[in-house]
Amino acid sequence: MKPLIVANWKMNPESLVEAKRNFEIIKKGVRNIKKVEPVICAPFIFLPLLKATNHLKLGAQDCFWEDKGPFTGEISPTQLKNLGVDYVILGHSERRKYLGESTELVNRKIIAALETGLKVIFCIGSETKKPDKEMKYQLKIGLRGVRKQDVAKLVFVYEPVWAISTSKNKVIATPHEALKGGLYIRNVLGEIFDKETAKKAKIIYGGSVDSRNIRGFIKDGKMAGGLPGAASLDPHEFVRIVKKVDESLGH
Ligand code: PEP
Repeated sequence: MKPLIVANWKMNPESLVEAKRNFEIIKKGVRNIKKVEPVICAPFIFLPLLKATNHLKLGAQDCFWEDKGPFTGEISPTQLKNLGVDYVILGHSERRKYLGESTELVNRKIIAALETGLKVIFCIGSETKKPDKEMKYQLKIGLRGVRKQDVAKLVFVYEPVWAISTSKNKVIATPHEALKGGLYIRNVLGEIFDKETAKKAKIIYGGSVDSRNIRGFIKDGKMAGGLPGAASLDPHEFVRIVKKVDESLGH
């Protein structure tokens, strides 16, 4: 499986013109990349206007758990799939914090997204420096009803809340801390499913990722990719991150 680099644009940029311009810069920059899968998770309103290619996939930052119906303001997994979107981020700590999204709701969204054929980028992390029971809870409840054969359609992101670039007392995680977070997630996956499934699970790292630290997270942190937020807002920096990973894989 190719390493994944996921841009989380969050509520950026402010205009469609800028979104298109940034997307085009990235598209051009990654057009010869073969060993990495770059994904742009853009705000819903921009998704129909950005066209995914073989070298650059599209993702959403959330979805609802029903396909259609009286759910004002929501976007369904089917609507995303029909737009050519491949991925959806679910369980991000900012949605938990600002919108009160519970792990039970995240679970319903995960089930619906998988049924529709979207790949789920499932964020796991807590406020504590070391992986803790909160992460175990997120995994156990978040994955309730997920079949073990569907784990291959999930990407787990170890995203410690304290390492996110906008968090109040931000500390950048070391590759070793990322490694420990990844191992913790894998152990819990082993408890929920089995060792073989846990071994194959794709785990990436998120939290202040940039072009200077990505290699460390991949090489020493044994991560299968990264999820940059702030750094992905600069399209040139995003391309640099993708290229750093691609180059590190050799020929
Ligand atoms: C995020 O919040 O998903 C994230 C990883 O942000 P940043 O890279 O800005 O820390």
